[in-house]
Amino acid sequence: MKDVTIILDNGHGGLSAGTYKALAGGRFHTFEDGTTIYEGEFNRYIVTGICMELTKLGIKYINLVPEYKDITLATRVNRANKFNKNKSFLISVHANAGGGTGFEVFTSVGQTKSDKIADVFAKEFQLEFPSERLRSAPWGDADLDKERNFHILKYTRMPAILTENFFMDTERECKAFLLSREGRNRIIDFHVRAIRKVIDELY
Ligand SMILES: [Zn+2]
Repeated sequence: MKDVTIILDNGHGGLSAGTYKALAGGRFHTFEDGTTIYEGEFNRYIVTGICMELTKLGIKYINLVPEYKDITLATRVNRANKFNKNKSFLISVHANAGGGTGFEVFTSVGQTKSDKIADVFAKEFQLEFPSERLRSAPWGDADLDKERNFHILKYTRMPAILTENFFMDTERECKAFLLSREGRNRIIDFHVRAIRKVIDELY
């Protein structure tokens, strides 16, 4: 087994005794029928599911934010940067908002190992959800460039990607994927397959 540690970041805060612990506003959505999704709760579920599978596979990981409380991006980066940059990579898990559809994966600006990792994740998304929209093809059209200077991607020393898994304020996607166990399991599964592939092929 290769000596690689997967650093898992669940964006935003969790839900504790009915109180949403996200530092920034928003990050949740309520539909007309009253159904509410909290992004931080979803992110934690996905990260927890990934941790379970990596445990079974004997792959090393760290859950960067095990607490329900939200912590600052600077604290997340400090925690991540304690790990050897050559023997780790970071995945920040999110759900999108703004009324679109599909999946996107971000890396920091410039051609780095993160781009190759993002490529693997985008392809595994397509295999798991062939009829859903891949918004960003890292290998594709320059107009779809999804490189961004997100804090968690820019200041971490190891390769880092950020996945935006469907849109929480798009009712079909939210109910089919983000608030269903089957949908969540499929999101967990393609992340785990991508992690295995990255370790095999890029480390
Ligand atoms: Zn987010």
